[in-house]
Parts: sequence; structure tokens; C-alpha cells
Amino acid sequence: MNCADCRDALEQTPLPQDVAAHVRECAGCVHELSLLQREDEVYAAYAARIEVPEMWGAVERRLRRGVSPWRKRVRWISLAAASLALIALAVITTSTRPPRNPVAVAVRAVPGPAGEAVARYRIAIARIEGGIRQRAKDDPRAAAAVAALPELTVAIGAAETGVAAAPADPIAVTRLVAAYDAKLEVLRGAAHVQ
Ligand SMILES: [Zn+2]
Repeated sequence: MNCADCRDALEQTPLPQDVAAHVRECAGCVHELSLLQREDEVYAAYAARIEVPEMWGAVERRLRRGVSPWRKRVRWISLAAASLALIALAVITTSTRPPRNPVAVAVRAVPGPAGEAVARYRIAIARIEGGIRQRAKDDPRAAAAVAALPELTVAIGAAETGVAAAPADPIAVTRLVAAYDAKLEVLRGAAHVQ
């Protein structure tokens, strides 16, 4: 087994025998594995802290009180709920290979409990966005995804402003995660058609 094949298989649990055997012999792949394990720990800490049911309860209470503009944005709310349920899936199934400690960088950039999740979304998006933009000239699916990006970028920007103003506000956090999740899903939808 070579290092490239090994790294493609590092996220499997348990590690296949040949992968485990390679990791025991290869300092580079041991390091890669330790990065992945650290990511899992960071995500687990995030998931433990964000307390999705409580957050969603707060969103619902605000909805019932008719706080605008959320009342008009039920689709966004649904998306946010779906995002929270799916965030683990999105993070786990999106292979992220940070060059070095991007989680800490993004925790500074986005305060509060959303920081680590946002860092992961940024990494996942950065990994595929360039390739999709390049393909957009000849690939209609890629072109459609690229055409949707400006609107999503505006949504992300607005949501980041909201979180900066109120880092612990569950609606602000939910909205931000939902906006990143929407962008990643659009890109991944185009990435998987090849
Ligand atoms: Zn190796």
C-alpha cells in the first residue's frame, strides 16, 4: 500500500488491516491519522456543547412569538433545522485535510459555539469550490452551482454579521450554520456529478 491509498482509507473505522499495517510503518500517515482523530475530538466537543434540542426550542419559541423577520423565513428555519440534524453527517462525510490548525484560526474569526463548525465548513468548501468554478465553463451542473454562489455568499455574510453581534444567540448560530451548509450542499451536488 502506498501513502495516497492509505490516506484515502484513513477515515474508515475500524482501519482495514493493510491500512493499519501501513500506518504502523509510516510516520507521515501516522501524523495524518492523528490530525483526523483530533478533528473528530473537536467536532465531538462542539456537538456536545451546542445542545441542538435546546437551541431548536429557542428557535421555536421565537417563532411562536412572531419575531420578524424569521416569521417570513420559514424555509430558512426548516433548512436550519435540517442543517443541525445533518451537521455531523456533513462534517464526517466531508473529508477535510487541514494543512495546520485551521480550527483555531476560524474560532477566532467566528465567535461562540459556531466557530468550529464554521471552520470545518470553510475547509470543506475551499477544497471543492475552485475545481467547480474551473469546470463551470463546460459543465452545466457546475455552472448552476457557481451561479447560486453569490446569493449564498450574501446569506453567509449576513449570518456572520449576526453571529458577531450575538455569538450565543441560537437563531444567529443556526442561521450561520444553515447558510454554510447550503453552500456546501450546492457545491457538493455539482462535485458529485462527474
Ligand atoms: Zn504512508
